[in-house]
This record gives sequence, C-alpha cells and structure tokens, in this order.
Amino acid sequence: DVILSEGITFSSLLLSEAVLQGLSAAGFQKPSPIQLKAIPLGRCGLDLIVQAKSGTGKTCVFCTIALDSLILENPTTQVLVLAPTREIAVQIHSVVMAIGCAMEGLNCHVFIGGRPVSQDKVHLKKCHIAVGSPGRIKQLIELGLLSTASIRLFVLDEADKLLEEGSFQEQINWIFSSLPLNKQMLALSATYPESLAQHLTRYMIEPTFVRLNPSDLGLKGLKQFYKLVQSHPLPHKIFEEKVQHLLELFSKIPFNQALVFSNLHTRAQNLADILSSKGLPSVCISGKSQEQRLEAMSKLKQYQCRVLISTDLTSRGIDAEKVNLVVNLDVPQDWETYMHRIGRAGRFGTQGLAVTYCCHGEEENKMMAIAQKCGLSLSSLPDNLEAGLM
Ligand code: ADP
Ligand code: MG
Repeated sequence: DVILSEGITFSSLLLSEAVLQGLSAAGFQKPSPIQLKAIPLGRCGLDLIVQAKSGTGKTCVFCTIALDSLILENPTTQVLVLAPTREIAVQIHSVVMAIGCAMEGLNCHVFIGGRPVSQDKVHLKKCHIAVGSPGRIKQLIELGLLSTASIRLFVLDEADKLLEEGSFQEQINWIFSSLPLNKQMLALSATYPESLAQHLTRYMIEPTFVRLNPSDLGLKGLKQFYKLVQSHPLPHKIFEEKVQHLLELFSKIPFNQALVFSNLHTRAQNLADILSSKGLPSVCISGKSQEQRLEAMSKLKQYQCRVLISTDLTSRGIDAEKVNLVVNLDVPQDWETYMHRIGRAGRFGTQGLAVTYCCHGEEENKMMAIAQKCGLSLSSLPDNLEAGLM
C-alpha cells in the first residue's frame, strides 16, 4: 500500500549517515508520502499527530525520528513508545533494530505483560528505546525500574486504539504525568475521531497535523467536479433527478469503467437496475454476500460489467484499476469517506474523473466543507463535457 514519491530519496531528508545506512539495509529506498511529510517535521522537534491509513509506513516515521535524535553514548532511556498490543510492540522493535542496524551499541527492548519483570529489569539497565504496552510500562515506572528522567520522545503508536474508550486511557494519563515536561510527542493513527482529538489536546500543545492530501495519494491525474441538482422535498425525486444527470454523463463521456457510490443501499440496487435496463451492464455490490461481491469484482475485471455500484459499507474490497470515472450520487458523510471513495478506484494513471452530485443547500454546503478539508479547489462540472475533459 505504500505509494512511493517520485525522485525523492531518504538522503534528501538530512538524516544521519547511520540512519540512512539502516534505512537502505532495511530495504526502504524512498520515503512514502507520509514519511516524506512527517519525518522532517518530527526532526524539527515538533509534536505531531500523524494520521494516515494503515500500510502507509507510519512505523518507519517514528522509528526514524527516534533513531535520528538518539544520543547513543548516553545509556539512558530516551524514547518511550506505547503500543496497544504485544504483536505491534514486537513489530516496532524489529523495525527499530532494522533501521538502527548501523548504530553500534543501540539498545531497544520490548516490555509487555506475560514476561518476567526480572528480565525487564536486566534489559532496563541498558535501554535507549523502550517499547511496550501501557500496563507493563506503568508497572515498571512504578517499581522504579524504568527511569523516565531522560525521556525526550514519547510515542503513541495506534493512538486511536490506545486512547479508545475503556482501553488504556488511565494508564496512559499516569505514564504521561510521570514524564519530563520538556519532551517531544508523536501520535500515530489510522483514524482521527473527535474523542482522540480531545485526549491528545491534554498531552500536546499546538501539535502539527500530518495527513495525506489528494496529491499525495497519487490522484494528481484525477479531475474532481461537483454538479448541483435541484433540491426537492421528496427524496425519490432528487434521486430521479440525479439519475437523469448520471445517464447524461455516461452518454457524453467516453469512460472506461465507472464506480458509483450511493449513501443508501436501496438506491444502489435501484440504480443498478435502471442502468442495466438502459444497456449499461451494471452490478450493485451493496447488500450482497461475500461470494456475490467477489463475483461482481471479477465481472468488472473481465469487462462484463461497466458500472459498479456500492455504498460505503461495501467499498472496502473494491480494487478496480481500470475504473476511470467515480461518481458520488450523494455527498459522502465526511472528507475521509470522500477520499476513500475516490481513492478506491486505484491508480488513475494520468486521466480520470470524479463527479459528486449534490443538491442545492445542505448537501452543497457539506460538499464545500469536504473540499476545504481535502484542500481541493472543486469546480462545477462544465456543460461541454465533450470538450477535452478526458
Ligand atoms: P502503518 O503503520 O502505516 O500501517 P507500516 O509502518 O506497518 O504501516 O508499514 C507498512 C509496510 O510498508 C511494511 O511492510 C513496511 O515494511 C513497508 N514500508 C514502510 N515504509 C516503506 C518504504 N519507505 N519503502 C518500502 N517499504 C516500506
Ligand atoms: Mg502502524
């Protein structure tokens, strides 16, 4: 899933020679978009909230920042990383050791429940980077085995999970208050719910947000438009109006294959029936069994279907590289969903089109808010579509 940026290598990021060697040995040649954005900001000492979907390379972000700022000669614990599960903690440890392979004398250890504290005690005698679960880390600090005095970097990996209701909130609060005031903090997360935002403002003062925007997602060749339609008190009238526009779009644009999103399952199926009756082989994958969804995907791939219709619930499995037109029949609920939808259609190559239908009024406002959050300058779909759009 890691989308690599053209031309830029890790050496452009002004990292230490040892870290560069380690990255290369670990097989990381070029920084992923999130790495490209976050690592330089992190090395400036800023507190960061890094939000990007899973698989975008967030582990390497904080491991690189941690290793690049480490004072190896100093045997104290300088970095504390919290992770929600032992598997993730172990994984982080292996990434630290891989990127740190050229740093002689580097000590990083994992501290999780189910292992003897006596072993932790031995490891803590020499441990530059401590990675662990909130429970065990708290215990080790309480026992006086883990000294927090020299910690300069505090990392919450999978912060959304760590700070989720009923998880580790109390332990993390406790750990946080035992750390020196003057430290850098990084929180990494796949999602950024309001509850997480509230927790993080307790820990971080004016954090810098690092997110991927459309241009980082390789959607540069994707032209994005909205189309206003008349509002109507009856929802099915709006639907009919949108379908009319959609049919017109399909008739005017020489698209390859299209993906259409509807907010409602009932309309998705309805639309598939209408389009098929107009001679456009269409399949609705919402509300279908796993097997039927796979069948729909294979139809799309074998060109037996030109239009795939989905709701957000079923958009996960869609992997459709040939799709060059994405239509939002309704404005999605938030900008993340918008990005997810239009990013769903894979690499668009150099050409592609996304059109969102919205009613005058509320839906229009929602669309504008999404465009602003995504940093898009959206324009209205031109009437003369034929004029070299695609
Ligand atoms: P996230 O924490 O965002 O879910 P990970 O840090 O687990 O993502 O990375 C996902 C995968 O991408 C891992 O297998 C990792 O080794 C790989 N990866 C990360 N950064 C790079 C890179 N710059 N070049 C190549 N592979 C990378
Ligand atoms: Mg991760």
